[in-house]
Amino acid sequence: MRQFELVETVQSYDPTADVDLIDRAYVFALRAHRGQKRASGEPYVTHPQAVAEILTEMRLDDATISAALLHDVVEDTPATVAEISELFGDEIADLVDGLTKIKQLDLVTKKAEQAENFRKLLLAFSSDIRVLLVKLADRLHNMRTLGIMREEKRRRIAEETLDIYAPLAGRMGMQGMRDELEALSFQYAEPEAHEAIVARLDDLQTRNAGLIEEVKAELEERLRTDGIVPVVSGREKRPYAIWRKMEDKHLDFEQLSDMYAFRVVVRSVADCYRILGLVHTTWPAVPGRFKDYISVPKQNDYQSLHTTVIGPRNQRVELQIRTERMNEIAEYGVAAHTLYKERTARDQDARRPALEQSNAYAWLRRHAEAMLSRENSAEDVFEHTRLELFHDQVFCFTPKGRIIALPRGATAIDFAYAVHTDVGNRCVGCKINRRPAPATTVLQNGQEVEIICSDKADPPAAWEQIAVTGRARSAIRRGVKENRKRQYGELGRHILTNAFAKIDEAFSDEKIASALHRLTQKSVDDVVVAVARGELAAAVVVRAVFPSSDLPAEPKPPRRARNRLEGAGAVADDGWFNLRNFFGLKFRVPGSAGGARTQDPTGLLESATVPIRGVANLPVSFAEGGAVPGDRIVGIVTPGVGISVFPIHSPLLELYESEPERWMDVTWDMDASPERFPSRLNVTALNEPGSLARIASLIGEEDANIDNLMMLRREADFTEMQIDLEVWDLGHLNTVMRGLRAIPVVHRVARVFATVERTKPSSP
Ligand code: MN
Repeated sequence: MRQFELVETVQSYDPTADVDLIDRAYVFALRAHRGQKRASGEPYVTHPQAVAEILTEMRLDDATISAALLHDVVEDTPATVAEISELFGDEIADLVDGLTKIKQLDLVTKKAEQAENFRKLLLAFSSDIRVLLVKLADRLHNMRTLGIMREEKRRRIAEETLDIYAPLAGRMGMQGMRDELEALSFQYAEPEAHEAIVARLDDLQTRNAGLIEEVKAELEERLRTDGIVPVVSGREKRPYAIWRKMEDKHLDFEQLSDMYAFRVVVRSVADCYRILGLVHTTWPAVPGRFKDYISVPKQNDYQSLHTTVIGPRNQRVELQIRTERMNEIAEYGVAAHTLYKERTARDQDARRPALEQSNAYAWLRRHAEAMLSRENSAEDVFEHTRLELFHDQVFCFTPKGRIIALPRGATAIDFAYAVHTDVGNRCVGCKINRRPAPATTVLQNGQEVEIICSDKADPPAAWEQIAVTGRARSAIRRGVKENRKRQYGELGRHILTNAFAKIDEAFSDEKIASALHRLTQKSVDDVVVAVARGELAAAVVVRAVFPSSDLPAEPKPPRRARNRLEGAGAVADDGWFNLRNFFGLKFRVPGSAGGARTQDPTGLLESATVPIRGVANLPVSFAEGGAVPGDRIVGIVTPGVGISVFPIHSPLLELYESEPERWMDVTWDMDASPERFPSRLNVTALNEPGSLARIASLIGEEDANIDNLMMLRREADFTEMQIDLEVWDLGHLNTVMRGLRAIPVVHRVARVFATVERTKPSSP
């Protein structure tokens, strides 16, 4: 586009545009890029010119057009931001600076950098939405001229466009931009699929020649009524949209219905509904396809009525009914907001708010803010922003009729957090359309959701994996962390209370406070949490508080103390606390006192009936070798990990014998095993073709899962292997073992609790 054409175009939609500014930017770009060529051999400056032209189609302001002309000069020529600022002012310099910074980001490099780059991108975009608009136009022009690049580069850029830029354009409501970016990327990213679909579409077009025109004419004819003159346009669905649908729903091309979409544009909202009435009384509507995005706009401000009918010539046609203004927003999204409001305002401060009023932009800003908060890692934000970019929305209502928009797949948990963080934290269940439902229920469009709250504010840790929105997930993580800290605090105080009681002292926070320097801890809370986590022995704390007490000198616990009764001077006689109320777990600290219990811990284990999963908020994991319901188990508090569950036969437990304060008695408490649990077998079998297959298939037939299989030893005649498998419970494991032993080639089957069976430590 020549200089005067560009200026005239801008003036045609904005008579107040600063012509001199655009002229100077045009000339500056021309000079700066002089002598540079694009890969195609064309002068480089044709690129910024084309980008500016694309932006005039969205009728953007003089500053955006000028920034588009200058968008590559800092990166690719000796020009500097300071120079731009001096010649064109800070506003344009800021835009160019933002564009230069994001140009250096290459999103599809290493995974770790990708997240960080995406974060920088969103931050740049959120500081001024016009940076995003220029970047999208820049990407669109590069995609249009991508053919000249090497195939690998084409594919990479196309994938990046499909991953980031097309969804961003869609999220900003810029459907026209999105469609073209997708269409161009599709042919480079998936050349075979693209070719196949285009060929099918050609074929369809030949078979249905003239169909679109006929349907359009009939629609226009039958919908013209009472002075409404609808403007109808029709088209086939786009190849990329078809491909996505085939992929998402696992359909063949032939299985796709409604290949045609028609748009009916009328003058007023009232006309939209009158046309809708007419459509539904003229042709049968396809159930479940009607959507009213006029009364409930999409998050990106999109408004329209959607319906599908068995229309003219018995074709399933999708109809979009909307006003001209809605059509404009559907096409240009955020950019459309510059068109009407503040058109005559000269100063940018008045103009920018119009843009920033859009919901789509508000969304972008929210995500940028989320990224700035320390709670969220870049990876996390990247993942969730992308999830929300790709997912369509569902709209649900509070009982008072407030609309809450959520990404598709969101649960009532996400809904609760979208209402308010406090509502989310206190959520214990919900009612969907007035009927009780679990909070984990995935919500559907239009449902009324009432969140049921309790007084306690401690979201279950498992929710973090279930929630879909970044907002809910980061709030849950924060809540769980605080909760865990509180629980560790209570646990630590109980352990210390008993340790103090051992030397007839009463525990108090003040006593701990007096010994902080000796313990090199910052606060009392740090001390009790460290004790609960097993990072600090209770005995050490007691000695720090009472240096002169006649406790035995601190034994440096041997790695494998033979007798766990030694070195455990500071624990309660009976070693039992019932912390069930706040903990969900009974646990014990095996005491120095002898007695039947300590010598026969199994007797105790049976007396405690508590679930080890679900209720306990401390993270529970299984020690190497696993444990299954029916096993007698013991828990070990591991610093920074939580509770590891060991079968009491595990030889690994010897490692903790010198640290009694870390021991915790736990048992299973479940009627029927809700899931499979890990266990490990050593199997020795004849080295014969097919033996492994027989072993594996027996395990499968018995409804167990093989998690891992490792060859330990392979000799001429026998192979010894270690199989990690998941079984429902001990009975099930025994059944599997019996089944394995019945296989003729199987020589030996034994359950093991560690990779290499450890021998019992011998007496010194
Ligand atoms: Mn460029």
